[in-house]
Parts: sequence; C-alpha cells; structure tokens
Amino acid sequence: MSRVNGIIEIDGSHGEGGGQVLRTALSLAACLGKGVHIRHIRAGRKNPGLMRQHLACVKAIAEICDADVKGATIGSKAVEFLPGKIKAGDYRFAVGSAGSSTLVFQTVLPALLLAGKPSRLTLVGGTHNPLAPSYDFILDAFLPVLRLIGCEFECSLIRYGFYPVGAGEWTIGIKPPEQFNKLRLEARGQPRESTARCISAGIPGHVSVREKQQLLRRLKWPDDSIVIQQVESLGPGNSVIIKMRYSNVTEVIESHGAVGISAERVANLAVDSLRRYLDAGAPVGEHLADQLLLPLCLGAGGSFVTGPLSDHCKTNIDIIRQLSDASIAVAKMEHGQQCRIEVKPTMAQ
Ligand code: ATP
Repeated sequence: MSRVNGIIEIDGSHGEGGGQVLRTALSLAACLGKGVHIRHIRAGRKNPGLMRQHLACVKAIAEICDADVKGATIGSKAVEFLPGKIKAGDYRFAVGSAGSSTLVFQTVLPALLLAGKPSRLTLVGGTHNPLAPSYDFILDAFLPVLRLIGCEFECSLIRYGFYPVGAGEWTIGIKPPEQFNKLRLEARGQPRESTARCISAGIPGHVSVREKQQLLRRLKWPDDSIVIQQVESLGPGNSVIIKMRYSNVTEVIESHGAVGISAERVANLAVDSLRRYLDAGAPVGEHLADQLLLPLCLGAGGSFVTGPLSDHCKTNIDIIRQLSDASIAVAKMEHGQQCRIEVKPTMAQ
C-alpha cells in the first residue's frame, strides 16, 4: 500500500488476486471516507479486469456514497474511487448478467449499516451461482450472525437466477443497529436440524430425483429431510443446498448443476464440502469466515472460531489491514486445525 495525493493505492493482484480485493477495498473506502486507487484488478484470474458483476459492485457502492469514480467500464484493470457521504435509501441494483447479486449486496451492506437509517434494496442477477454465496446462504448463514451483532433484516426471494440466464430478483430491508454488539461465536452449540433441498428449474425432473437418491445413499438421513423442489426462474438451473442448523449457528453448503456434470457428482460435491465442515468442528465455515470480517471491523468487533483459513480469507485480512486500523488476530487452537479470529474494530469512522 502507498498513498498518492492522499489516495490509497491498492494492488488488486495481492494474494488471491480476485474480485474480493476490489469489493473489500471499495466497501472500506466508502465506510471510512478514504479515496482508493485499485490497480491490477483481478490479475490473479484468467480473465482479469472488471467483469459485469464487479462493475455492478463498483456502480452500486458509488451510488450509495455519491463517489467520483474513474475506470468503471467492463474490462478495466484500474479504478479510482473517491467516496462522498453515505446515504440510506431505496435502491435497485441489477447486475445485467447472471453474475452474483449477493456479492453486490455484500459490497454495499457495510456502508448501509453505518448510514444511520434503514434502507431497502432490490437486487437483480444471479441468486444461486457457483463461487459466490447463494441467496440461501445469505438468508440462513450470513444474516443470522449479523442479527447477533444487532442488525435487523427482512428479506424475500422473488425469482431464482441461475447461470447463464440470471435475472433472479430479491429484496432486503436493512435496519442498522443503534449500537453494535460484540460477536462471540466459539462453538456450534446443539445440533437442531439437518436438511437438504434439490432445486431445479427448466430441466428434466430426474436430475433432482437422482441428486436426492445420491444424498440419501451417502448421508443416510431420513427421506423426508431431503426435499425436491421446482422453482421459478427465467432460465434453467439446478442446485443442491444442504443446511446444518445448530443452536448457535447455521451453515449452508451448496453445489450447482452444470452441463456435463452428472446429478450424482453435484450431490457428491455438496456432501464432500459438508464432510469438510463437519470434520473441521468449528462453528464458522470457510466462506462465512471471510464474509464476517468487514462487519466486525466496522461494528464492535468480537471473535469467532473457524477451520483452516482459506487463501481468500487471508487476502481479505491483508486488504482490511491496508485500509483500516482494525486489528485482526488469528490464533491457532490447541487441537486440530481450528483457529480463533479476534477482531478489534476500527476507530476511524
Ligand atoms: P473472481 O474469482 O472471478 O475474481 P469473484 O468476484 O466472484 O470472482 P472472489 O474473490 O472469488 O470473487 O470472492 C467470492 C466470494 O464468494 C467470497 O466472499 C467467498 O467466501 C464467497 N463464496 C464462494 N463460494 C461460496 C459458497 N459455496 N458459499 C458461500 N460463499 C461462497
């Protein structure tokens, strides 16, 4: 990191070099009122630069904080972002492709939590994408933890959006807390419910039936804990969504169908991810871990226990450290591969 004319330089090729570097830098810039110049955007990816999903994030956060932006075009490898004042409000953000609408939501959420008033968002794009949190993950895994720190939400899915057509739609009301609570999430608590859904739209019915059979073969759960559901979507799609509910936390684990991948393989991928979560023994899964960091840094901080840190999470920690004075300490636990992350929030807002 360096500063040119008070603008903080962020190297988008840092660590994993993916879209999260851009999103975290923009979210923090808006929340802390700091100008950023992000170069080498997504240099670690095969198709570097801004794709439609990333551009939608840049435009959405710019609208919320009246930012001056340079470089906001498809394929751009550098963006300069000078934020103004954050405004709560009623916003509609459309990705314009099957790109993930939930990542747009997560980019603007930290700023809206600091806006002092409630907001309402309508998000249009992919709702169930590979390599991004799905609507179900947001609803059942992410938002419940943010409720623990005092935020209020009501959220509804209007239409599913799958790759390649996208065009899913959902809305969310966001009420920031008057005062953030500190998070302490160190154990899963009592197991409450293990369920799965095999959802599909516009594809032959046998796909979800085979996914369910494969889940039953591998998990040995009761038949009625796994449901098959046809869903409303403008394009075809298919996902397996496993939900593990405990008294302190819920984890949502998914895999998504695609041309050339058998239904059995889609189910197997979800079960393999579930095994990794169960073996790690920690309450906070790999993806939730990187997604909780920003809200904790901007709120009252706190601690949580997770499994081995992903490269993604390590990169996110580095970018937060470059842009804020929040402290994120990672301590290995005595047993197994778990670690405890302790966040002390930024003093800068
Ligand atoms: P790219 O990799 O093309 O640059 P990207 O912008 O989609 O793309 P990443 O940097 O890979 O971004 O960030 C993806 C985000 O999606 C991360 O926060 C990650 O935790 C989250 N994510 C990925 N897979 C899942 C999943 N199965 N469940 C929940 N969250 C997920």
